[in-house]
Amino acid sequence: MAGGWTKDGAVSEQIEASINDELARMRARKVPQGESLTHCADCEEPIPEARRLALPGVKLCIDCVRERDGAFKARGGINRRGSKDSQLK
Ligand SMILES: [Zn+2]
Repeated sequence: MAGGWTKDGAVSEQIEASINDELARMRARKVPQGESLTHCADCEEPIPEARRLALPGVKLCIDCVRERDGAFKARGGINRRGSKDSQLK
């Protein structure tokens, strides 16, 4: 009865991946962690001071946050325009 659950390893892998996505998204979004960075952790663009003050623990510039946001939506199959936009850039 319970054996069917783990029959396919890909299923649990997928579940794990979506949980990790969720955690990463929460971290990137609003959970303050440590100090704000002066430069984006992703593209190394300087992060404006106003943004650092508004979002304690911010690690990414606005562009990278938007890009990640779009990537998450695209992966969820809700909206694929985000990834298209970043390709055009
Ligand atoms: Zn960036």
